[in-house]
Amino acid sequence: MPELPEVEVVRRGLERWVSGRVVAAVEVLHPRAVRRHPAGPADFADRLTGHQLGAARRRGKYLWLPLEPLTGTGAPTQAVLAHLGMSGQLLVQPQGSPDEKHLRVRVRFADATATELRFVDQRTFGGLSLHDTVEGDPDGLPDVIAHIARDPLDPAFDDAAFHTALRGRRTTIKRALLDQSLISGVGNIYADEALWRTRLHYERPTASLTRPRTTELLTHIREVMAEALAVGGTSFDSLYVNVNGESGYFDRSLDAYGREDEPCRRCGTPIRRRPWMNRSSYFCPHCQRPPR
Ligand SMILES: [Zn+2]
Repeated sequence: MPELPEVEVVRRGLERWVSGRVVAAVEVLHPRAVRRHPAGPADFADRLTGHQLGAARRRGKYLWLPLEPLTGTGAPTQAVLAHLGMSGQLLVQPQGSPDEKHLRVRVRFADATATELRFVDQRTFGGLSLHDTVEGDPDGLPDVIAHIARDPLDPAFDDAAFHTALRGRRTTIKRALLDQSLISGVGNIYADEALWRTRLHYERPTASLTRPRTTELLTHIREVMAEALAVGGTSFDSLYVNVNGESGYFDRSLDAYGREDEPCRRCGTPIRRRPWMNRSSYFCPHCQRPPR
């Protein structure tokens, strides 16, 4: 499953290679890839054709391209949402280059740039779908993801409102970090890393967090994500835009995640792993004391 930094790399690639181009034709090679579009593949293709694609946007791990209105100005009323699923890739390829084995959708453009956009997905959990946007939203936010909170790298993320929301909930901090209605884009790995940096146990009740602790936690989340982005962002300058669910970040030394029984880099105490909501939580039992 791609994490936010990988999705941001894809967004930058789309922004550079696809935004601003006019769709000339859409070919759906596998209906499952557009199954979230109830009117079917032909309707999906028809509706996209002729539209100029707007600026590539992202909220958490959700990625979309608004369709510029065909006539007049104003906010986009339709947007294409990309679900990458487990194995989805968006590739910008030269026209005529051999089709990928798992090519599902091809988008051709009405300009002289001899490249096309391809959605490739081995396991077909992902797909593309067309949605109405939240009325008047300048970014063309698809209505189906209107409930997803902004992510902490978004300039419009509201730190104070996030703290207030944490204080008002009867939940624990790691559950809150993975709750997309509070904050988006923080996956299991980034949560464990940020909690280790902040010396917070994952079961800490959010109602007990002080304002400075919330601020410290957000700072560490942003640092972890920025570092991952710096490492994972190496490929977005190339023509080949892809996401494969991995990033260079996983090659670098993580401080907590995946380090069971290895010494904490701060205090030397062995890192522990605990089952947590069908996943694992890694933490230092000395630096991250469990709540009483
Ligand atoms: Zn420690």
